[in-house]
Amino acid sequence: MAEKFDVIVIGGGPGGYVAAIRAAQLGLKTACIDMHVGKDGKAAPGGTCLNVGCIPSKALLDSSKHFHHLQHEYGSHGISVKEASIDVPAMIARKDSVVQKLTGGVAQLLKGNKVDFYHGKGNLGAGRQVEVTPADGGDAVQLQADNVILAPGSVPIEIPNVSFDGEYIVDNVGALDFDSVPGTLGVIGAGVIGLELGSVWNRLGSQVILLEALPDFLVLADQDISKQAAREFKKQGLDIRLDTLVKSAEVKKKKVTVTLEDKDGESQLTFDRLLVSVGRKAYTDGLLSEDSGVRLNEHGQIEVDEQSKTTASGVWAIGDAVRGPMLAHKASEEGMAVAELIAGKPAHIHFDTVPWVVYTDPEIAWVGKTEQELKDAGVKYRTGSFPFAANGRALASDHGVGLVKMLADEDTDEILGVHIFGANASELIAECVVAMEFQGTSEDLARIVHAHPTLSEAVHEAALHLDKRAIHRGN
Ligand code: FAD
Ligand code: AMP
Repeated sequence: MAEKFDVIVIGGGPGGYVAAIRAAQLGLKTACIDMHVGKDGKAAPGGTCLNVGCIPSKALLDSSKHFHHLQHEYGSHGISVKEASIDVPAMIARKDSVVQKLTGGVAQLLKGNKVDFYHGKGNLGAGRQVEVTPADGGDAVQLQADNVILAPGSVPIEIPNVSFDGEYIVDNVGALDFDSVPGTLGVIGAGVIGLELGSVWNRLGSQVILLEALPDFLVLADQDISKQAAREFKKQGLDIRLDTLVKSAEVKKKKVTVTLEDKDGESQLTFDRLLVSVGRKAYTDGLLSEDSGVRLNEHGQIEVDEQSKTTASGVWAIGDAVRGPMLAHKASEEGMAVAELIAGKPAHIHFDTVPWVVYTDPEIAWVGKTEQELKDAGVKYRTGSFPFAANGRALASDHGVGLVKMLADEDTDEILGVHIFGANASELIAECVVAMEFQGTSEDLARIVHAHPTLSEAVHEAALHLDKRAIHRGN
């Protein structure tokens, strides 16, 4: 006999575990199934984000930033050390302990909210029957629910003739676990993950070359931002080669030789390690029985409508496995919204105001439309901007690189997009998201008191500049 639930969630990442907790908070009898095995061999709910994504990458970005600053930036503060050294295994152990704390925390949260957690692989059949194959190899367990939420996440895309071997040719999992600093690191794909993980090892002393097929850098970002960022990253020693298509890679004598094609034709480069970060794809292997009734789209994503309903009655899907940006906060918001819809409450997500962040140094963050998008759509807009070089707090803490750029409707002044390249952009963008959610205008932000001295004054000044009344720059 199958155990009966109101809601079964398959996948325990930021989409799935959040959906499960919210469903339980709403009084629904909820199960959450996750198959991830942590480094200690035990269950580790939290998905890609907590185990091998957002959190461990930020832990290593932080460690490598300290090391880099100690060597290259603290001199001007009068701080020096004779010889800085990096103990890579200690750095990785710290990262692992952060991950373990957080995945343990998720397990506790599930328990505290009375969510039944199953460590194993879930498979959806007809009539919302779910079979769980336990991770410990025990007998399969049968469950059934009124509603099933699919949150199986994503896996790295592998390109033809470049096979992962987990040691020399790696994905994000491998690049978060190198046991020493590679002398040379090739990165295929100069997207968010390639830039973040490339930065980590570059700061620790690797010579990093990023090979990017597209002719433009960071195409999703506003071009003013991506141009400044490209210049800054080059100064930092990241060698970003655009218009460069990787065709194959081969491991020989503990080195990886990459064959690439650029404007000069075909050539080869040899690295100690190669990170493949060419994007991610929905992970649906073994998730759906033939009779589940759930359809995939042409990209292999689970097909959903605007409310996250799949083609099977009572089956919902969220996160990286469905359309939309592959971001943890997008997955979590969808999870909460679906739980609330199941409980009969209204719920709606504004995809237009989902913030994006790239955790380089400085950070890149944006919300809303880019200038290119507004131009293409024929929208009339005004622009304001402010450089961090003119912000007192930024200069006091050596963060004078970058800018805030704000775009507002020419007639109504409603904010249409904000783009930040600068220190703490990931935090500064929150104010702009709030403003846009409330359909705020640049005048609203211009009239709000911002504390002095803070980096947020750069947002304030960009809003003032939009109305040609910035104080600390020319208009
Ligand atoms: P996932 O987090 O992938 O979780 C899915 C879970 O379901 C996994 O544990 C998987 O094992 C499990 N699962 C799959 N199928 C089954 C099944 N059949 N049965 C049981 N369990 C199953 N996003 C950000 O917003 N900010 C960042 O800074 C950021 N940094 C990133 C850095 C890296 C290196 C990577 C790789 C990603 C990063 N992301 C970041 C993206 C973010 O990790 C994802 O958008 C997010 O994890 C998606 O959440 P999810 O719940 O949809 O899926
Ligand atoms: P993201 O989706 O942000 O992780 O970025 C992945 C990047 O990898 C994109 O900018 C792609 O253009 C790039 N890419 C994909 N395939 C290749 C390839 N074979 N060689 C070089 N770059 C690639």
